[in-house]
Amino acid sequence: MSTVTGNGKAIPFLDLVTPHVEMERELTEVFQRALRTAGFIGGAMVEDFEKAFAAFCGASHSVAVSSGTDALRFAIIAAGIQPGDVIVTVPHTFIATTEAISQAGAHPEFVDVDERTYNMSPERLQEYLEKQCTTDPAGKLVSRRSGRRVGGIIPVHLYGQMADMDAILALGEKYGLIVIEDACQAHGAEYFSRKNDCWKKAGTMGRAAAFSFYPGKNLGACGEAGAVTTNDAKLAEKVKILRDHGQAHKYYHDMEGYNGRLDAIQAGLLSVKLPHLAKWNAARRERAGEYNRLLEGVESSVVRPHEPSWSRAVYHLYVIRTHDRNGMINRLKEAGIATGIHYPIPLHMQKAYDYLNYRQGDFPVSEKVASEIVSLPMFPTLQAEQQVRVVQEILRCLSVEMAR
Ligand SMILES: *Cc1c(COP(=O)(O)O)cnc(C)c1O
Repeated sequence: MSTVTGNGKAIPFLDLVTPHVEMERELTEVFQRALRTAGFIGGAMVEDFEKAFAAFCGASHSVAVSSGTDALRFAIIAAGIQPGDVIVTVPHTFIATTEAISQAGAHPEFVDVDERTYNMSPERLQEYLEKQCTTDPAGKLVSRRSGRRVGGIIPVHLYGQMADMDAILALGEKYGLIVIEDACQAHGAEYFSRKNDCWKKAGTMGRAAAFSFYPGKNLGACGEAGAVTTNDAKLAEKVKILRDHGQAHKYYHDMEGYNGRLDAIQAGLLSVKLPHLAKWNAARRERAGEYNRLLEGVESSVVRPHEPSWSRAVYHLYVIRTHDRNGMINRLKEAGIATGIHYPIPLHMQKAYDYLNYRQGDFPVSEKVASEIVSLPMFPTLQAEQQVRVVQEILRCLSVEMAR
């Protein structure tokens, strides 16, 4: 345990207690309803949440499943990615992105991220498709490094900000690739599509999208939960079959599926919380604006998040970059301020992906970013005075550095 110095109580990274205490009665009623009807799996509570979440996203369909990882895995399979095909994604993401790819029978390959948005770089994607791929005799795109056909692209809307979807979708269309959004950190994030001349929400732009309702996400269950959104009715139907052992009717199995259903209780709890999501996201945007303001003037030592004019981010995380990252984290820890690193080691450098044969230096932006990032406390009930304390501590840390 670190001793807490400074003039206040410890500042947590995330507060999952306050919002639930405020809704305790409504949340408890969900348990009671489930107990009294013994409706534990599927049923009206799940269907009601699916409808409400689809409406929130502006998608035609939402299918609730047991986690974000399952959502991504089922979306990949239901979209028709062929076993063995390459899915292109980024190394700067949570491992669930690539776990879903390989566990759906596909093969992950990477392109680097953009240094300002930390999301998939459309330039690097274009370079990959043009220079690192060739076409086989059947006219299909094939990756030179693995000799496999390329089937899809998974951009990740990291930290609550959407990837540059117009550019990515245009490349997907040009090369006949299926685009699936990893929207697990981006519930309600918006993107201005120059192509369609309108704002679009995460979960509506790709063939399908995956959301996670892990407790710490912008919309979190009180346990594990996730959802697939899509505008494709057939794809939605296929995800429903996949999540339920490959059966559309009990004990008639069209294929092997999974046990990937959502508990009715989690769906009910999510339905209680969903009406608050827009307000919570707005509070996160305000908190981010406040951090940005407080950190003005130290741009040379602290890189703040960059929100392009085409983006309205929902700040699942507020991530800064600094050279002495570990020094800053320790300094904040001593002051009782919790931080995180999302994520310290890019996926191509993880032991689990030794078999992909990537080397250090293959994705220089991801590698640089991973060594400099710090996630500061960010949650809707974060107080202005807590933010002042966080930034005071950061500034102190910088002046110590500069005095050396
Ligand atoms: C949380 C997360 C997932 C996985 O969601 P789970 O519900 O934990 O399975 C996938 N991708 C990203 C980017 C995430 O942040």
